[in-house]
Amino acid sequence: MMRRGKVLLEGSRQGSVDGKTNVANDKELVHKCHSDPGGGRALGAAPRTHRHRSASGATRKCVLTLDGYSYVIVASPPGGATAPREEAPPRPPPPPAPRNGTPPKQGALTIVRRSSSRSKAESCPTPTDEQLDSLDLDTEHLPAVDTPDACDKAALRLRYLLRQLNRGEISAETLQKNLQYAAKVLEAVYIDETKPAVARQQSAPTLVFRRLADEDDELSEVQPDAVPPEVREWLASTFTRQLATAKRKSDEKPKFRSVAHAIRAGIFVDRIYRRVTSTALMQFPQDVIRVLKTLDEWSFDVFALHEASGGAPVKYLGYELLNRYGMIHKFKVPPTTLENFLNRIEEGYCKFHNPYHNNLHAADVAQTVHYMLCQTGLMNWLSDLEIFATLVAAVVHDYEHTGTTNNFHVMSGSDTALLYNDRAVLENHHISAAFRLMRDEECNLLQNLSREEFREFRTLVIDMVLATDMSFHFQQLKNMRSLLSLAEPTVDKSKAASLILHCCDISHPAKRWDLHHRWTMSLLDEFFLQGDKERDLGLPFSPLCDRNNTLVAESQIGFIEFIVEPSMGVCADMLECILGPLHSSSKNSTSSAEPINEESTGNENSSKFKIRKPWVACLSDNKKIWKEQAAKDAEARAKQEEENNSVPPTTEE
Ligand code: AMP
Ligand code: ZN
Repeated sequence: MMRRGKVLLEGSRQGSVDGKTNVANDKELVHKCHSDPGGGRALGAAPRTHRHRSASGATRKCVLTLDGYSYVIVASPPGGATAPREEAPPRPPPPPAPRNGTPPKQGALTIVRRSSSRSKAESCPTPTDEQLDSLDLDTEHLPAVDTPDACDKAALRLRYLLRQLNRGEISAETLQKNLQYAAKVLEAVYIDETKPAVARQQSAPTLVFRRLADEDDELSEVQPDAVPPEVREWLASTFTRQLATAKRKSDEKPKFRSVAHAIRAGIFVDRIYRRVTSTALMQFPQDVIRVLKTLDEWSFDVFALHEASGGAPVKYLGYELLNRYGMIHKFKVPPTTLENFLNRIEEGYCKFHNPYHNNLHAADVAQTVHYMLCQTGLMNWLSDLEIFATLVAAVVHDYEHTGTTNNFHVMSGSDTALLYNDRAVLENHHISAAFRLMRDEECNLLQNLSREEFREFRTLVIDMVLATDMSFHFQQLKNMRSLLSLAEPTVDKSKAASLILHCCDISHPAKRWDLHHRWTMSLLDEFFLQGDKERDLGLPFSPLCDRNNTLVAESQIGFIEFIVEPSMGVCADMLECILGPLHSSSKNSTSSAEPINEESTGNENSSKFKIRKPWVACLSDNKKIWKEQAAKDAEARAKQEEENNSVPPTTEE
């Protein structure tokens, strides 16, 4: 997408540049790119970045301002100075982080994102007469309508038009063009409710309100006779929410792509390098190593890993993933701390001996997230910190699950429901308990993150895990669909990662039948145990929890058709939308070591970019098996009913 930005020479006057070259979408504030051939070439390709040689002649530095964010880009020669101290992110709480302490042996390029240069006052000033007088009403060179800059421009133009109308000094054509532009900006604000609440409130409170009030559950689109009433009731109670609760917030991130594109080859090489050189200190049993050889497969057998690891799949899988993605190295996670953390997380999953929400489920979801990251190429769109947060969110997303649903917590008035006011009770607990665990120094895998990195990591994990609350399901899908329907969708990293985690969380019906069947039986066991508790407490049965009256096959068909298939569909569309441009630019790059997929259409057009979707065949197979099962069950029920209704032969004369 074309954006406009400004490049400032540090200490010199401001210039402006049309931003074909955008700054990394990464929320990561500092990215060091060693001047290896890939990284160097990619960065060198970034045009129109004004460079500045410092007085010492050692460091080149420039400031790039785009969409209200300033980026300081500092190039240091081998052995030279690193980024200026005042621009480095603040140090984390004790112990002090060793990062940035030693000069690099190789030349380094540091990109530091400074805080937003847009203050509230700055973004919504009332224009002065002078400003209005100097306004150029040309509509040819306006920023893209879904940018903050566009809001300012549109507001300014509306003010101008009002004034000129009052004075009777405006042509119909100018009026029309500018109103058209302003309308488009407002429409973009309206649709893009994925923006954080703070940003939304500042820009268009009434529109956002309208959108929230408009929330409806998409279950109304499900044909009433397509599913039995019990299944429908279960879908409604589990996957919709009664109240439109306030949306969660996260730091608004600028939606830039091209510097991310430009340096992604470097990032990839860097990650692979770290993965290879990082010393895996934890010893892996041979059987675990054997099972982990299939870690990249869609239908990875996590039950086999459970066996091979002596019941510790989270420990080995978590360690392996964080090492593979270079996180141990990048974020200086002490290996023993990671091991402690994973052991404690694993224990938390086993605390209530749940048939389904246990350490196997955590490992399963983390592995599926890994598939999405590595097999689709998504890892190249995300920053290291975002990958770190996504993997950790997957690992902790059901930590200390009680084996009962949110509804049960609310209905039984549990302490946890009391603590979290009946809202996303379990999800809030998983997050809170996991961060509490990290307060213990022995388990604090975030100890070497800077303060900013920590804040960002925490926000991401909170957003992602809260989004696994099934009552947000329809809203989440609907939001993503409407975003993807825009002409030039800009997908928020946090929203994307949240949707990925949500989809992976409900992905077992999209895996091989033997795996899916096993998961389903475990989940039903757990539901039935909850039903037993409900009966004992005199509570009504929650849907699917009455062991004597549950339509298993039908519920699975409903779950697949109305929940899992649409989720995987939107997820795939989102991935193709995000990764298409990355793929097309990688084709023009000499360094494309990425796992990019393309269906052999023979068409080189990036809009045809497709990811592989192994889940499609699995979903179809599984649904077919459940349908056969449902038919058999219905037959058996009919027979039983017939027997019950048959009048015993009378003995009377
Ligand atoms: P989580 O509790 O975070 O693991 O979210 C997954 C949720 O999806 C479960 O709690 C269930 O509500 C639902 N779910 C997953 N698998 C099935 C299934 N086979 N049948 C019905 N509901 C399911
Ligand atoms: Zn889960």
